Amino acid sequence: MGEAIAVTDSGTLQTPKNPVIPFVPGDGIGPDIWVAAKKVFDSAVAKAGGGRAIDWLEIQAGEKALKETGDTLPEASLEAIRKYHVAIKGPLTTPVGKGIRSVNVALRRTLDLYACVRPVRYFPPVPSPVKHPEQVDMIVFRENTEDVYCGIEWPKDSAEAREVIALVEKLSGRKIREDSGIGIKPISKFGSQRLVRMAIEYALAHGKDSVTLVHKGNIMKFTEGGFRQWGYELAKEAFGDVTITEAELWEKHNGKLPAGKKLVIKDRIADAMFQQVLLSPSEYSVLALPNLNGDYMSDALAAQVGGLGMAPGANIGHGVAVFEATHGSSPKDAGQNKVNPSAVILSGAMMFEYIGWNDVATMIRQAVAKAVQTRHVTFDLAAQMENAVQVSCTDFGDSIVANLA
Ligand code: NAD
Repeated sequence: MGEAIAVTDSGTLQTPKNPVIPFVPGDGIGPDIWVAAKKVFDSAVAKAGGGRAIDWLEIQAGEKALKETGDTLPEASLEAIRKYHVAIKGPLTTPVGKGIRSVNVALRRTLDLYACVRPVRYFPPVPSPVKHPEQVDMIVFRENTEDVYCGIEWPKDSAEAREVIALVEKLSGRKIREDSGIGIKPISKFGSQRLVRMAIEYALAHGKDSVTLVHKGNIMKFTEGGFRQWGYELAKEAFGDVTITEAELWEKHNGKLPAGKKLVIKDRIADAMFQQVLLSPSEYSVLALPNLNGDYMSDALAAQVGGLGMAPGANIGHGVAVFEATHGSSPKDAGQNKVNPSAVILSGAMMFEYIGWNDVATMIRQAVAKAVQTRHVTFDLAAQMENAVQVSCTDFGDSIVANLA
């Protein structure tokens, strides 16, 4: 019998030896991947020792849940995630149709999973479109709940759009075309600072040397510019003893980190940053971004190191986290035992790190790296890799298990 992970008021996790972890295999390719991934997780935990084991608890979400309960995200599943604090899920299909909500968006909103966290690193010899993918080792903290993504929108010609247009014209003296759709872009100090705090805490805990605030504050001064300003303010007020701004580093210390300081806080304008990650990726490690910039940047960086099949992720809130691959349910590949399970497996590694089982996380990452190096890989990688042999999803999972050490 497993036990629930406990969370203190400050958000620190206390993980028992046998934590209950809810999981959703997912739709489409999800069940194929889950079989391979679970075997890797259980084998790694057993190999790491210490009498630890996961007590997996299946919960429902997505297409299967809709069929069986009439709801894509039953309350019982949300309750289980709240109770056990940490969950892992496969991809979920968003059924096409009016009134059906996206489960992923609903999960983030209901549980206030305010940070979408995506580490991006290269696993040689995965095919990549750039010359030096090995220079990419970044982790993206994307704000998940605000910005133009928060879903406050009205269609053109609606009464609400007309009312907002009239109000904005009155307040700003600027004309908005009357056939405009309207979307609202709120970015708050609270939302920005809790996200930047998570990024800074991560950087400090993992010995990273910088956190870069990526924004479009030169144009959107009070939203994106606010994100930048509040980020710097938080770094100074809450972490001033160990952080230094890039400006101060160069003005006063000739670019050399002074004694006692551990972390450089810098900022980049989003468009320039897209060039920077291509031209000078090694200068960046932890990135903090508002929602829309973060969405684009996560996918662009994933492409730089070889695409979706290897891209893990997590949505994290205060004392609750849901780990997931960043790819979708790819219905055309479902049930064929052919897709790459690495993204969910690497999301599991993030999960083990999150619950404090760093030894398990490291073991899994190293095993994935070794399995890829054998060039016996799933179709997505084999198609572009020289001298590759294509293997099934389960065989690739088994290869990762065989490489656990
Ligand atoms: P997708 O990610 O499912 O597929 C895009 C492409 O990537 C396909 O060509 C597919 O073959 C390939 N691919 C995806 N995962 C792969 C893997 N593990 N190994 C090898 N190749 C892989 O995106 P889509 O087709 O746009 O979306 C399908 C469904 O998934 C939609 O209903 C969408 O809403 C949903 N979706 C869910 C999530 C999530 O649950 N987090 C994320 C994105 C999309």
